[in-house]
Order: sequence, then structure tokens, then C-alpha cells
Amino acid sequence: MTRMTRIARIALPVPLHRSFDYAAPEGQPVPALGARVRAPFRNRSLIGICVGLDPPDAHPNPKPLDETLDAESIMTGELFALARWLADYYHHPLGEVFAAMLPNSVLKGAPLVWREEAIWRRTALQAEDLGRAPRQRALLQFLEGRNGWASARDIRAAGFSSAMIAALARKRAIEQGQRPWKLEPPPPPTAEQQTAIAACKDALGRFSPILLDGVTGSGKTEVYLQAIGEVLRRGGQALVLVPEIALAPQTVERFRRRFGATDVLHSGLADGERLAAWLRCRDGQARILIGTRSAALTPFARLGLIVVDEEHDPSFKQQEGLRYSARDLAVKRARTLNIPVILGSATPSLDSLRNVRAGRYRRQRLTRRTTGAPAPALRLLDIRGLRLQDGLSDPLARRIRRHLQAGSQVLAFLNRRGYAPACLCPGCGWQALCQACDARLTLHRAPAELRCHHCGARAPAPAACPDCGRAGLLAAGVGTQRIEAGLLARFPGWPLVRIDRDSVRSQRRLGEQLARIRAGGPAILIGTQMLAKGHDFPNVALVAALNADAGFLSADFKAAERTAQLIVQVAGRAGRAERPGEVWIQTLQPENPVLRRLMEAGYAGFAQHELAMRERAGLPPARPMALIRAEAPDPAPASRFLARLKEALPPGLEILGPAPAPMPRLAGRHRQQLMLMADRRRTLHQALAAIAGTEAPRSLRWSIDVDPEDGF
Ligand code: ADP
Ligand code: ZN
Ligand code: ZN
Repeated sequence: MTRMTRIARIALPVPLHRSFDYAAPEGQPVPALGARVRAPFRNRSLIGICVGLDPPDAHPNPKPLDETLDAESIMTGELFALARWLADYYHHPLGEVFAAMLPNSVLKGAPLVWREEAIWRRTALQAEDLGRAPRQRALLQFLEGRNGWASARDIRAAGFSSAMIAALARKRAIEQGQRPWKLEPPPPPTAEQQTAIAACKDALGRFSPILLDGVTGSGKTEVYLQAIGEVLRRGGQALVLVPEIALAPQTVERFRRRFGATDVLHSGLADGERLAAWLRCRDGQARILIGTRSAALTPFARLGLIVVDEEHDPSFKQQEGLRYSARDLAVKRARTLNIPVILGSATPSLDSLRNVRAGRYRRQRLTRRTTGAPAPALRLLDIRGLRLQDGLSDPLARRIRRHLQAGSQVLAFLNRRGYAPACLCPGCGWQALCQACDARLTLHRAPAELRCHHCGARAPAPAACPDCGRAGLLAAGVGTQRIEAGLLARFPGWPLVRIDRDSVRSQRRLGEQLARIRAGGPAILIGTQMLAKGHDFPNVALVAALNADAGFLSADFKAAERTAQLIVQVAGRAGRAERPGEVWIQTLQPENPVLRRLMEAGYAGFAQHELAMRERAGLPPARPMALIRAEAPDPAPASRFLARLKEALPPGLEILGPAPAPMPRLAGRHRQQLMLMADRRRTLHQALAAIAGTEAPRSLRWSIDVDPEDGF
């Protein structure tokens, strides 16, 4: 008897634009679409996803699969289709799309089960009734100190064994239960919020993108919360995407105070936690998921709403591998699922503003802060001719002193970490350069090091010039560490908190720092863009942007948009409570047109003008763009390869390059790029599809970046 072995098409995690055919394993059923299988591939055994089934005659002599891991698809039909869409849109191999999309444990073949974390609560039984059992009494006291309950994990972390928990449970001194959430009711919405909330609720159940364009502190989050409340009442799930560094515990706490259980997904999770959240969303147990970029790839059983907070934030774009935009994905999924998507920002991206203008998105505006405090006035501080001391002018220092003495907090913003961005020899002109990149090394203190912010190289800071031997090298320019040192010297005794990637290594530490600031009391905060986003500092009365000019120096056509967004976001930190805030921008270019426009017409006026310029120049978002990058240890092969691709591209495109990338050498590799634009997205995609599978020489890496966020 011949059995009908069908052929399974498998997407494997390899950088090839194709699937692979295998026969169903002997004696096992044919794998389901979307199930995991183990397949032999070049002397290895890889885990892949079944993406198609063919009749037995489709392949003359297929190798058999090693094993089928799942009886049915591990993902929703929507996610399965989304993987295919991602592969097509971003021209990325389907197997690698799954690898980027699925949690690590899933990729490693782990069984798809999770255990609910046990919560233990005290009962009415008193410690005296326990008899002679000091450790058990101690455990009861521990629970007492934590409002009567704790998770099994926390109990064990405090040094109590599982046996002790079991013993107390037998004596009925503790029992398993739900986490008792302390919920807070919503505040009565403002009139503007009311309109926005009504619009969001009204949109439930159909595809409708809403741009929630609201100044900082206008209560956008409250609008999300109330819209989500309605989704939950209708039995749906909600997905909230936030920028990477905005996922502070306080954001999550706010959701938990309103709704109780809220799942979280970010890069810091252990594999097991990530899998649990993924499964809970897929199976419908999770009601709300808050997460960074990759959370946009989570399957949901009953998704009813997607929120993208700070939708303009560049961290929503993945910069390597599958270069997807989580924001664009959110809109794509909302369309597929027929649900609304709320894009919120105080500084909307030009992409979204253009979609509003084209009638594709609806705009809801929140123009006033909920506190009634006026929006801060933005003012320029012309520092031409002034002597700066560690990046700070005297007029600014005087204002800082005044605010501190009045009991307020001051925020100094500088988007550059380290002590100084350059280190030079005043004798011979030597500069500290990275050996592997076309970049200067940044001088750091504590420890005194030279570091490359591009490839991560580090070396001890030299005491003398390596070329001429002269002692006393010059630190040129300012970074946050130098600002900190300067402010410490000028304002001894005042509390000072620096927040940047070097000072804040862990989420917990960031939380502690932020709590110190929110406790109020006069203090100086220094920080990079980490301070500019999503954090609420009610006592900040003065915001100073110390080096906004740097943002305008970049050749990147998005530099003005980014810088304007950053300035307005930082400015939004000023005066959120009752106090009116003031914002000063130190500049050497008081006539800079972007600054002037921001000053006079606000972000909206700036954005309108900038969008008109992009339209005239035919740049995104007016036309779609893709960037093809190639890099190799030697300079020639990358440009040769790109020239070859260029030959192979069909007509109808505007092509720039091959040309050196903005940083032509990075981590020892020479980088070249081709920039592609077209009048129509279809033209661009057909062109990319024509070359996506091109084989490159072995030492060369190349990639396609559709809708790039930087590096043009
Ligand atoms: P955004 O997300 O626009 O920055 P938030 O939603 O964080 O604004 O609101 C800013 C502050 O105002 C928060 O402290 C929030 O608790 C408070 N808030 C929001 N809406 C209201 C309201 N309707 N009444 C009172 N306070 C509110
Ligand atoms: Zn020298
Ligand atoms: Zn480097």
C-alpha cells in the first residue's frame, strides 16, 4: 500500500528568499499551516514553520521532516498572513520574518504552555495559632508587611522555601488567590478629552486611524485609557505601543491602577516571561498589552484597539534584520482586523500629518493642558560672543539659580552623553579617532576612557599626546558628564540627577532616579532624550536646551523634523503643574529658520512648512523611499555590488548612488548605499522584488531598508 506523503513547504530561519520542500515525517500526520517542524538542513536540524502543502508529485524526492512539533498552527491566521505581508513589504526572507516575530522559546521548540504565577494571601488565621514554627511565622509577617499578599516568586526570593508555603497552606494560614488590585476611577474628562474619547469609542469595530494631536500634558493617555475601558467592556483586547525608553514602571502602573492586570512586553524580559505574555495575548487571557516595538508582532485572540503613543518616535523603526516600522504595522493590522488605531503625539510625524491632510486619518486635537497651566513659552538665548563655561552661559546660570532658590526644579537637556565629544592635542593637532570607524572618540569620565559611540570600542584616556608626547590634552565640546561637572561646581549643595544611558543601566535604577525627581524639591536634572519622553516631572519650572544647534548640522533630510520634535518634547517638561514654565534654547544661530518657525508658529506651523518643502523636493512622505546598503571589509566590493544591483533595477525609479553611507566606515567595514525613490509605491516594490534575492559575494553583507528612518 502506498501512502500519500504530501509535501510540506517550510520557511526556515536562513537568509534565502525561498521555502524548502519536505515530506511529512513517517507515521506522523502532515503538519498544519503555521505549525513548527524540525527539518534537516545542510547537516543541521532547524526549526521552521510550515507555510504550504503540496500534492506528493510536486517534488520528486523530498527529504522527510525530522519531526512535527505542533498539532495545529501556533499563531492566529492574522499573524500568519501578516508574516507573509512583512516578507513582501520589507523584502525579507519569510523564514527570517518568523524568526524576528516569534519569541525565543517558540523558536527553540519549547512547548507552548505557561503557568499562571501563584499569588498567596493571608487568611484570618493568626500567627499565634501556628504553634512552634518560627519560619512560618516569619513568612506570615512578611506577607503582613506587604498588604497581606505576595507572589510565590517574591516569597521565594525573600528566602522562604516552597515547602514552607505548602505547610502554611495546609494549616489554612494562607490561600491562593488573585492579586488584589487597588483600582482608581477615571477623572471627569475635560471638554476636549470628551470629544476625543467619544470619537475613539465611536470608531470601535471598524478600521479608523485617529491622530490624537495633543500638547504634552493635555491628557492623551487619559483618552487612551477611556477608549481602552470601552474595548474591555465589550470583551476585546487592547495593544499599546510605547517608545523604548518611555516604558517606565510609572506608565504601566497607571494602566494597572485603572484596569488591574496588564501585560508587558519589552526587550528586558526573560524568555519565559515573554512566552507567557505572548500566549496570554494569543489565547485571549491578557486584556491589555503594553510594549515596545516588537509587541506590534504579537498575536491576539480578540484585538479591539491599537494605541501608538508618541507615534513620531524613531524607536518604532527596527534598524536591523527585519526593518519594520511598528507604527506602520499597527495601522496595517488595524486595517486587517477592522479596528481603530490611535496615533498619539504632541509632535506628530510628517507622515501622519500628511495622512490627515489626505483624509486617510482623522485628527483629534487637545490644545490645553489638563492643569490649566499655560503652555511654556519657547525663547531663544543668543550666545554669540558669550563665554560658555562647561556648556553653560552666564545668563542661563542666573536663571537656574533663581529657580532653584524659588524651590523649583531645572532641567538641562543635551542630546550627547559622555564628557566631551572630542579629545585633541593643542600642541600638534592630534585627535582621538576610532580605529574602526570614521568617527571621533568621545571622552568619558569615571572611568576616564575614550569610547566610540558607534562601534563600542573603548580605551583608557591617554595622559599625554600619543604623537608629540605633550601632556594636557584638550577636551573639546560638551557632553552630559561635563554639564554635570560644571553644574556641580557652580551650584554646590543642590541635588543633581543625571539621566542618560551611562548613568541609568537598569530599569530599576531609572525608576529610582525618576522617583527622586518626582518627590519634588529643588533639583537640577541633566539628561539626554531619555528625559524628553513620556515622563511627568510636575515641579520642573525651567527647561534649558543647551546645544540644539547640533541637531541641525546633520545632512539627513529628517534632521529638522527630529530636532524640532525633540525641542518641543523637552519643552513640554516645563511647568506641567500649576507653575508656568519657561524654556530657553541656547543657540549660536538665532536666525536659524527652523528655530524661528518653531518660535513663531509652533510645531504645527513648522510641520506644515516642512511638509511643503518635502513635497517640493519629492522626498518622503511625498514619495516612498528605500535604501539599499552594502558593507564589506574592503571599500571596492560594496560599491561594485551596488552598481551591479543598479544595473538590474527596472526603469521608472530615481536612484542616487552608489555613494558612501553617512558613516562610510563603521566597525571596520566599508559602507555604501543606493537610495531609491519612486512616484508610486508599487513601482518601488516591483523594483525591490526584482533584486531582493540577489546573491552577494561571501564577505559582503547587504540589506534593503524600506521607509528608512535614518542613514540617508
Ligand atoms: P499626555 O499623555 O497628553 O502627556 P496625560 O494623560 O499624562 O497627558 O495627563 C497629564 C496629567 O494630567 C496627568 O497627571 C494626568 O493624570 C492628568 N489628567 C489627565 N486627564 C485629566 C482630567 N480629565 N482631569 C484631571 N487630571 C487629568
Ligand atoms: Zn600632540
Ligand atoms: Zn568605532
